[in-house]
Amino acid sequence: SNVIYMKDIVKSYKMGKNTLTVLKGISIKIEKGEFVAVLGPSGSGKSTLMNIIGCIDVADSGEYILSGQNIKAKNEDELAYIRNKEIGFIFQKFNLLSKYTAEHNVAFPLLLRGVEKKAAQEKARKVLEDVGLGDRIDHKPLELSGGQQQRVSVARALVGNPNILLADEPTGALDTKTGNEILDMFVELNNKGNTIVMITHDLEVAKRAGRIINVIDGEIVD
Ligand code: ADP
Ligand code: ADP
Repeated sequence: SNVIYMKDIVKSYKMGKNTLTVLKGISIKIEKGEFVAVLGPSGSGKSTLMNIIGCIDVADSGEYILSGQNIKAKNEDELAYIRNKEIGFIFQKFNLLSKYTAEHNVAFPLLLRGVEKKAAQEKARKVLEDVGLGDRIDHKPLELSGGQQQRVSVARALVGNPNILLADEPTGALDTKTGNEILDMFVELNNKGNTIVMITHDLEVAKRAGRIINVIDGEIVD
């Protein structure tokens, strides 16, 4: 079954008198358990598409069904709820809270949802162990390497058991070897059943996914 169903998605930005149409009728289907790369050059509309997939922004027109829910009919609060439940975000620059330990960074989304502190900490430790950071739970981001910081952010994305991991240039701030280790982890997570959507401009990175969706100038090309 489709976790993502998009049909004819259009998105424009108004700039003064001008309108820039960034997504020109995007249709995508992604099934549960897929690892898909959205590949495109800078300026092709990838971040705009990621924001729509992640319910951070909504399309001007077209249909978007996420895990059976029609996104068009939702208000801000409902979108936030769906986003938190459905999507685990992974960013190029990790976006960790620098004052807090790895454990707290990973526990944080659970605490926001009202999970009791001890249970959240236990779950955070378990997920950090799963990503190979069991011996780094008390370290703060700046006490960790880039690859380790990205592992913390993968753990943070996983901790709420989302239906989709949505990663925006997850290797963009890492050297090639460390980036490949993160991609190895994505492949492993996908083999365990996680659905992954990864945005990238890098063909070598995209090739690690099971399927590549090529976006050029706001349109999907073969
Ligand atoms: P095509 O783009 O080839 O015309 P369809 O729109 O006929 O494809 O849909 C093909 C598949 O996409 C269907 O079998 C169904 O699983 C899925 N699908 C179609 N419409 C929806 C929808 N509104 N919500 C979720 N999945 C849909
Ligand atoms: P990519 O992630 O592939 O680099 P983006 O989705 O960030 O592409 O941007 C696609 C185009 O839309 C670019 O020309 C960019 O300048 C423009 N754009 C992106 N966000 C905005 C915005 N909030 N307002 C106006 N233009 C935007």
